[in-house]
Order: sequence, then structure tokens, then C-alpha cells
Amino acid sequence: MMQQESLFDPVPKTAAPQRSPVESLDHLRQTTLLCRQCRLSETRRNVVFGEGNPQAGLFVIGEAPGAEEDAQGRPFVGRSGQLLDKILFAIGFERKDVYIGNIIKCRPPENRNPLTDEIECCKPWLMQQLDIIDPKVVLLLGRVAANTILENTQSMGSMRGRIIKWNRFDCVVTYHPAALLRNPNWKRLCWEDVQMLRAHYDKVCPNG
Ligand code: URA
Repeated sequence: MMQQESLFDPVPKTAAPQRSPVESLDHLRQTTLLCRQCRLSETRRNVVFGEGNPQAGLFVIGEAPGAEEDAQGRPFVGRSGQLLDKILFAIGFERKDVYIGNIIKCRPPENRNPLTDEIECCKPWLMQQLDIIDPKVVLLLGRVAANTILENTQSMGSMRGRIIKWNRFDCVVTYHPAALLRNPNWKRLCWEDVQMLRAHYDKVCPNG
């Protein structure tokens, strides 16, 4: 029978050491690079894991890598990425301040929308990234990102313009930069959304 006092012994010295956010993310990255759970692994050039500050207060989530992202293995480095950089800069963030990822990590052929089973396969990786980084605020770019994370089928109009609580995160939904490139009229609404985001961020992350 177990000695009574052993119940109260301190944790043995041999317990696995806690990983830092940087180590945890790196470990997760190495695992995702080997992922072959869906058909997109057959056509991708690179897994686009995500990048940025592992302790960011703001996590930006797009839809899926495009051709340029697939070639470089980095998120938002094409035309949409240049616009995203400008949007972030306009509210006082640089890329290195925030973390940037996507709903799925491999490029869908011909940039088609991700299929439901591809999203379901890939979502757990993103959930682990959110868990490790533990941001206060999440910016969801476009309907695919917003509907996937918030698990709804709502329109952009009904989701944007407000803070949406999801688990322990405060989410802001706005137009995807690719949609803004096609429809510059929406830039005004996006500007309102990201200004609201910045004001909220300053409240919940007062130390930057
Ligand atoms: N569009 C996205 O949604 N993500 C990227 O990384 C690039 C373009």
C-alpha cells in the first residue's frame, strides 16, 4: 500500500520541465511540418505555420496561404499581406508585435476556399497556437476565419463593428485584405473596426 506521507511529497525532481511559449511553439511547428492529415499536404510546397511574437496580445487570423505564402512558408507575404501590414501600422502595430496565422496551414490548389474536412483537420493546430500564445485580442479576417472560429454562419455585417467574446478571447471581425483589394469601399468599415480594436487592446493590454 502507498505510504500516506508520499501523497504530500513535493513533485519529484524528474518531472518534465515546463516549456516556454517559444519552445512550445517551436515544438508545435516541428510537428505541423510533418502533417499529412489532409489532401493539401500532397500539393503544398510549404506548411505555413504562422509567425510573430510568441507572447503577443493580438493574434491575427486569416483564411489560408496563397501562392506567395506557399512559396515562402510565411503568412501574409503577398498583396494581401502588404495591405495587412499597412492596416496594422495604421493602428500602431508592426508585424513583429503581433502573431499572424491562418485557419489552414497549407495552400488550397488554385486558391479555392478550404473544404470543411480540411478545416476540421487543421483547426486543432491553430487552437494549440492560441493556447500557447494566449492573446487577449483576436482579429478575424474575413468570413471563413470568423465563421470557423466563432462556429456560426453569420454574415460579415452582423459580426463586424463589435467585440465578440469567444472563450477567454475578445474577437474583432473585419474584412479580409483580399476583399478590400477587390472592394475598396469596404476600407472605411475596416478602418472603424481596427480603430475599435486598438482602443479595446489598450484597455486590456495597457502595457502594450
Ligand atoms: N490570405 C490569407 O488568408 N492568408 C495568408 O496568409 C495570405 C493571404
